[in-house]
Amino acid sequence: MKRTYVTGECWRCDAVDVPVLWLGPVQSQDHGDGPFYCCEPCVQRLEALVRAHHSRGVASA
Ligand SMILES: [Zn+2]
Repeated sequence: MKRTYVTGECWRCDAVDVPVLWLGPVQSQDHGDGPFYCCEPCVQRLEALVRAHHSRGVASA
């Protein structure tokens, strides 16, 4: 999967003017979808969460 960092704002920790990666559409309650961008440290944290999620072997949300 191609993962290209662009300079922008992290939607997780509010860092600005940092390299961020588009992780996918985020669904909001009232305003439709938005682009979920995260900075490198947040991406690493989410990678760990995804890894832990799959290592549990249960596809629960
Ligand atoms: Zn961040």
